[in-house]
This record gives sequence, C-alpha cells and structure tokens, in this order.
Amino acid sequence: MFKKILVANRGEIAVRIIRACTELGIKSVAIHSKADEDAMHVKMADESICIGGNLSKDSYLNIPAIITAAELTAAEAIHPGYGFLSENARFVSILEDHDITFIGPKSEHIEIMGDKIKARETISKTGIPLVPGSKGDISNLNVLKKTALEIGYPIIIKAAAGGGGKGMKVVQDESSLLEQYELAKAEAKANFGNDQVYIEKFLENPKHIEFQIFADKYGNVIHLGERDCSMQRRHQKIIEEAPALNINSTAKKKVLKAITTAMKKIKYIGAGTVEMLYEKDKFYFIEMNTRLQVEHPITEMITGFDIVAEQIKVASGIKLEIKQEDITFRGHAIECRINAENSKSFQPSPGLISAYHTPGGPGVRIDSAAFDQYRVLPYYDSLIGKLIVHANNRELAISKMLRALNEFIIEGIDTTLDLHKEIISSKEFKAYNYDIKWLEEYLAKK
Ligand code: ADP
Repeated sequence: MFKKILVANRGEIAVRIIRACTELGIKSVAIHSKADEDAMHVKMADESICIGGNLSKDSYLNIPAIITAAELTAAEAIHPGYGFLSENARFVSILEDHDITFIGPKSEHIEIMGDKIKARETISKTGIPLVPGSKGDISNLNVLKKTALEIGYPIIIKAAAGGGGKGMKVVQDESSLLEQYELAKAEAKANFGNDQVYIEKFLENPKHIEFQIFADKYGNVIHLGERDCSMQRRHQKIIEEAPALNINSTAKKKVLKAITTAMKKIKYIGAGTVEMLYEKDKFYFIEMNTRLQVEHPITEMITGFDIVAEQIKVASGIKLEIKQEDITFRGHAIECRINAENSKSFQPSPGLISAYHTPGGPGVRIDSAAFDQYRVLPYYDSLIGKLIVHANNRELAISKMLRALNEFIIEGIDTTLDLHKEIISSKEFKAYNYDIKWLEEYLAKK
C-alpha cells in the first residue's frame, strides 16, 4: 500500500480523498493555488504545497508544478479527483514515465474514452447499443446532410472532445443544420482545442441512467448498479438518485453483461462510469467517464462500497476482495448539488459565507469544503457542497432530503438550496415522473 498520496484537486472532492487516505493510514499532500491557502483541503492534509497562481491553468492544471510537488514531498501516487487533470491522457503518461502511480486507469483507456468518436467506435464492437449516429467525425457538409437525413431529425451535434455539457447543438430540421454545425465546430475549437464533431439522433424524452463499474489489475470487474441523473439543466446534473426505478430488468441485465464483458476486454482498471440514455425500455451508450464521478456518494450509500478507498487499494495493486454476488443494494439515496448560484437566474455568486449550519441526523451525509466565514472564490467551479441522504425507500429519502434542505443554512451568498427545495417538493419528482428535459421545461414555465 502507498505511504503518501498527493491529491491533485481542491474543494469537496479533495476533502473526500484526504478523508479516505486518513482512514487507510496513508499520508496526504494537498496542492493549492495562492487564493486557496486557507482552504479546507489544505488544512486537512498532512502536508501542503502552493503550486501557482489562482487561475486553474497556473495551478490545478499546471503539470510540471504538480509533478515537482509530488517529487519534493515523495508522494508515490496522485489522485486526480474529477475535472482538472482527471481525464488528461498526457498527464497520465507523464506520470507513468516518472514512476508516480496515477490513481485511475491507464493513459490508453483515457485516450480511447476521452475522444467520444473513438469511444463510440470501441463500444460499437462490444455489443453495448449506441445512440444512432455518425460513424466517425463529420468534416464534410454533404456527409453531414446525408447522415442527418438517414438518422432522422431532430439530431444533436456533439464535440469529440466535449465535456461538461458544453458545445452541444440540437438541430430540429435541415434549415438550421449548417449554421449550427459551424457554431458547434467553433465552440469545440474554443473550449477543447479540437474542432472534431459528430452527430447523434436527439432522443426526445430519455432518462440519463449511468452504471458504476469497478475493476482491479487482475481482470476482476464488478458493477455497483446504476444512478438516475436525469434532473439536469443545460445538460448538467443537478440531482441524482440511486437506484433508478421502473427499469426493464431484461434490458438492464443485458446491458450490464455487455458492459462488464467490454471492461474485461479493454482491461479497464479502477472506477469508471458508463453513461447511457434510456427510452422506451432501451439503453443507448453516450459516453464513458474514466474517473470518479461527482455523484459517487449515492452509490456508496446504497452499496456500502467505499469507491475512493477501493480506487486507492486497486491502484496500489491490491486485488478486489469483493465479488459481484457480495454486492447488495439497500434502500434509496439522493444527492443535491449545492452551487453558489442564484436559484432563479443561475448567476454565480462568489463571496463570503457569513453564516453556515449543516443538517445532520441519521442517513444524512455532506461532502463539502465550505465552512463559516469561508470565501467562495470566483476562479473555480461553483459547487460548494453535496447533500446526500439515504433511507429505506424513495419516499422516506425524499422526506429526509426536504428536512435536511430546510435545516441547511448558508448566508452571505446565493445558493441553489431554494431550487432544490422546490424540485424535491414537486409532484413530478415525488411521482418519479421526470426525464432529462423536465427541469428546463419547468423553469421555462415559471
Ligand atoms: P458531456 O460529456 O458534455 O456531459 P454527454 O454526452 O455526457 O456530454 O451528455 C450530457 C447530457 O446531454 C445527457 O445526460 C443528456 O441530457 C444530453 N444528451 C446527450 N446526448 C443526447 C442525445 N443523443 N439525445 C438527447 N439528449 C442527449
């Protein structure tokens, strides 16, 4: 097992990883930007090191500074969390050259799955169904028109290197196809430095259902069930729950078998998430994330499987002790992502938290790096914490979530707490009657 791990992240996920290290008896090293000097992850780690300026490119994305920090502190491994360098194949191959263990899969896995066109190609050979779409990238207007007609409108144009719900364009008919295509390419180039795009059938009313998989270095692959992440705004998740309800059990069994076989075939290592859309009893692959997900706690709550601790163990070469048949699913878990944003305008709201009180009681978990008098910085993601509840069934989880949201006090800045109260109390959420479009439509009607 490792003696010391460097955590190449900040905020709630850095805190989550440091907690896992401490429980495993591993020393942790925090890295931080100048502005993050007093951040919680810095205070909680055994050692800390300032690696640059406030902008992410100068600190949390600064590969030479991070590697120097690992060497100076003699950290044997790096946990990347999510975002930042977690899906950067170049970073991982540099670490491989420096004999520093990356807590995650190999660079080749990241390379295949990070490029969504390559991922579609790989997945299409495994028996996992894809959303109908183009074969490769679309660089020719004639091919674009022809493929869109074959697939049938509406279609969605997506960036090969896309992420975070950015750069996707929905096209209703041919009249706006070229314009949207040019826009999508320009946005892809500006956001991801790669203008390759592809198209998919735009599904009208799907649910976003994703499967958590986990593998060790010895070919053992298990799954930890699914999460329903359909509560979205601008293609970004807001609330997640596990398990998903009303899923066709034959379709689920089939897709899980295909996923685990595929992961064995590509010799995947560590935690991964296969994201699918689900409509009319059918699953369609959209992408695979080769890292820890923001919403991993709901899976931990219903399985008792500590995903972060297991990631660390597997990366150090320990065999998975647990088998598929040992995984049991208990009760229902919900997570609300609390952002420093206005609940109505969604304007970011950085600034000083002047009062902070967290809910508690049985079945309530908070993953956050915020505290009283903490200043939310404008440089980074607006997620300030995740409120997670677990109860014996969905109905009880909903009332627990509402109770916990009402106990949560965050003053001085705007947060999405009010939006969550509204969604969780809505009759559609209570009736489990929502898909990926529901929230946008609900907000538009207000
Ligand atoms: P990103 O990597 O940017 O998060 P994804 O491919 O994971 O992009 O898609 C994010 C969300 O966008 C999905 O959860 C879904 O809401 C929507 N989406 C993506 N592809 C489609 C599609 N073919 N039809 C309808 N909605 C889609």
